[in-house]
Amino acid sequence: MCSGSGERGNWTSAEVCEHINLLIDQLAGEDLHSLPAKSMGDDQVALRRIESRVQAETLRRLRWFDTGKGYASSGALSAKAWLRWECNMLDNSASDQVNVARQLDSLPLTAQAFADGDFSYCHAALIAHTAEKLGGRMDANAEEILVTAAKEVDPRRLRIAIWHLRHCLEPDGVLCDANEQFDKRYLYMSQTLDGVFYLNGRFDAEGGAVVRTALESIMKPPAPDDDRTTWQRRADGMVEVMRRQLDGGQLPEVGGQKPQLMVTVDVATLTKAPGSRGAELEWAPPIPAEIARRLACDCTITPILFGAESHQVQAGTTSRVIPPSTKRALVARDKGCRFPGCDMPAAWTDGHHIEHWADGGSHEISNLLLFCRRHHRLFHEGGWTLQKAEGGLNAIPP
Ligand SMILES: [Zn+2]
Ligand SMILES: [Zn+2]
Repeated sequence: MCSGSGERGNWTSAEVCEHINLLIDQLAGEDLHSLPAKSMGDDQVALRRIESRVQAETLRRLRWFDTGKGYASSGALSAKAWLRWECNMLDNSASDQVNVARQLDSLPLTAQAFADGDFSYCHAALIAHTAEKLGGRMDANAEEILVTAAKEVDPRRLRIAIWHLRHCLEPDGVLCDANEQFDKRYLYMSQTLDGVFYLNGRFDAEGGAVVRTALESIMKPPAPDDDRTTWQRRADGMVEVMRRQLDGGQLPEVGGQKPQLMVTVDVATLTKAPGSRGAELEWAPPIPAEIARRLACDCTITPILFGAESHQVQAGTTSRVIPPSTKRALVARDKGCRFPGCDMPAAWTDGHHIEHWADGGSHEISNLLLFCRRHHRLFHEGGWTLQKAEGGLNAIPP
């Protein structure tokens, strides 16, 4: 396909592009199923290298197009505007490419390694942006350090190397950046008409690390029967961290009282009497009876009861609180979640009444079992039941 190098030297850039297109057509015409899948790995490496080389050459030409005002004859006001119109590029990426092309002009080592296909556009752009930030402090030595790193690591790790280099060369600059990131922190919490909450936030490095560390400690590796997605587990983890703060009683008082989840419920609802209304949570829309029953089940949250028969419910048990001695005995007996195969420790569990206290069940240890939050839900919202069996209880799915 290719002629001798002498002849190739005479090709115009349009002819070179035509030949590259012909070669790509040849690749695209190959029946991949006739080739071993393993060989695609080598192709990936080789083609990505070519992709980088093409991008480097594109930027080299963009630089001359920009400084020589090659765009002016078309009426465009800048190379960036021309790219947006003629190459259908987004504003940001057109501006980024022009900027990187300008920087590469004064970064000979980076430009050469990029042209050789030694790293991607993303690597080259990171080095170019660093040079822009560092200005005169980006000497040949600093560039060599970054080019060497870029050839070895992915962009994320290159970013870390860049951060350390910047910290050496301009500690005030990185501190200024950190302060800027801190200033941009926010946490939006919105609620839809359905009562669903949306959280959307941005944290600086330290704030994010605190949240992540707390979540990681709560999000143990998933159990075999845990079919929640990572995102669901993270959401549960966040609620769990907050719940513990509420349960721990360390939070400041509000209106003279320790903050606590408030459930307001009619006795009829808690006893699931037909025709009863929903229960209510502070800050949230009405909740179904079964969620109120679960929240009340452990007795950590004492519901505010309404209804003529409230005294009868209270009479069913000596108190709506599991006595501390019973709770200690329950923890000593069950040690953790009693669901088969679950190893959640006792600190992460709720006390579940086999017969709910609202239905007249007692707070005797024989009527109580420890379940983690996920498994406790199964016996309320999930419709699972417990049946007496030889040597214990069986959990029966709905
Ligand atoms: Zn329960
Ligand atoms: Zn469990």
